Amino acid sequence: MGQAHMCISFLTGEVTVGLHMAASRSPEIRKDAVHNRWVIFSPARARRPSDFKSKNDPSQNSRNQVECAFCAGHENECAPEIFRFPPESTSDWQIRVIQNLYPALSRDLDPSSEDCAGGLVTVSGFGFHDVVIESPSHPIVLTDLSPAQVAGVLLAYKKRIDQLRLLDSIKYVQVFKNHGASAGASMSHSHSQIMGLPVVPPTASARIQSMKEHYNETGECALCEATRNNNHLLIDESGHFSSITPFAAAFPFEIWIIPRKHSWHFHDIDNDKASDLGGLLKLTLAKMSAQLNNPPYNFVIHSALLHIDPSQTPFNHWFIQIVPQLTVLGGFELGTGCYINPVFPEEAAKLLREVKLP
Ligand code: AMP
Ligand code: ZN
Ligand code: ZN
Repeated sequence: MGQAHMCISFLTGEVTVGLHMAASRSPEIRKDAVHNRWVIFSPARARRPSDFKSKNDPSQNSRNQVECAFCAGHENECAPEIFRFPPESTSDWQIRVIQNLYPALSRDLDPSSEDCAGGLVTVSGFGFHDVVIESPSHPIVLTDLSPAQVAGVLLAYKKRIDQLRLLDSIKYVQVFKNHGASAGASMSHSHSQIMGLPVVPPTASARIQSMKEHYNETGECALCEATRNNNHLLIDESGHFSSITPFAAAFPFEIWIIPRKHSWHFHDIDNDKASDLGGLLKLTLAKMSAQLNNPPYNFVIHSALLHIDPSQTPFNHWFIQIVPQLTVLGGFELGTGCYINPVFPEEAAKLLREVKLP
């Protein structure tokens, strides 16, 4: 029997009144062994998993705008180009990697300057902040591209990382994509970004430490483990990759795409694997968009430190994390570093597995 009651949404403060099954699952706290954090699964605080839909903001839809600085023909409105695909193309380019016009870090500073006066540490704001324009055409989004074209975007990331890793001063490269205003995008033209950082960011160091502890305790890489014997969390598989919902997903409908063969650097990807991953990434984003009403989303590539010590390779394993932006983080997350997720990942996986695309 269902029981009607009022529910205050755990993160947004939004009040919903609905039918919730009295017999819904009890809350559960799961450990994310990759990020070393706890996630509270609290289905009683949510709508049914199948009711999760994004309130799409039509003003952010790239199909509503005609042209922008990232469009073909507007190249002179952009910061300088680093390279393009195909390399010799003129007006018929497919992908451009350009400098960011408003970079968070500057490639022109001295990377070695450091100041520790009074225990306050400052290093120069040296680093790289580039933009990858994924298509010459404004209305096209990543899922409109063919698997081979998505592979081209992945190979553009690889090529740029291969350039940045020649510099000893760059410790970590973060590839990320913001899609939609509430996922942080200021430009609606399909693009992603690459930052070369002179410091190791805390998410990377916490992940590496956590994976190391897991390896020391179990003799296993946590991500190799995650791709095996977890059929209830599996969404899809391609030749080389698995898309799953992680066991301790911090966010509703969070998805990871993981190479099944142990591999620590994204930039070691070859053409064959990139084309395989291009197909799975397109499929996964299309399924997520269909299930959740085209939500804003982020994806990030988690990879090993650029200059990795060989002793660290057994427990470093790169993967792509995809997070649809369906909720707003609040004081609980800020205070504790724990997350509350109203959707069990096995339920999200089942829904995503069963999405039928047109
Ligand atoms: P996002 O804010 O995630 O949409 O990323 C778009 C990025 O493009 C921002 O970091 C902007 O600073 C950058 N940007 C905006 N306009 C230009 C331009 N004309 N040339 C190069 N980068 C730009
Ligand atoms: Zn445009
Ligand atoms: Zn592994």
